[in-house]
Amino acid sequence: MALYKYSHYLTSSTDPRFDPTHQPAAVVAHSGIYKCQGCGREAACKTGDALPPESDHQHTLAQGAALWRLIVAAT
Ligand SMILES: [Zn+2]
Repeated sequence: MALYKYSHYLTSSTDPRFDPTHQPAAVVAHSGIYKCQGCGREAACKTGDALPPESDHQHTLAQGAALWRLIVAAT
């Protein structure tokens, strides 16, 4: 779970860029913190870089595929 200390630095948003999941190694369209929907691992990634590749970490069968979702966007 991403942590923060000062809530006044974050604002809730309904922006649709938080909705899709992204494949491992996909090019990042929006800088921020991404969370793997299978295991909860988090990664900070910036626009134009690649999300962590499939080889970044292992999943159990129960965790399914590694799919990344933007959870905190940098503005
Ligand atoms: Zn994962």
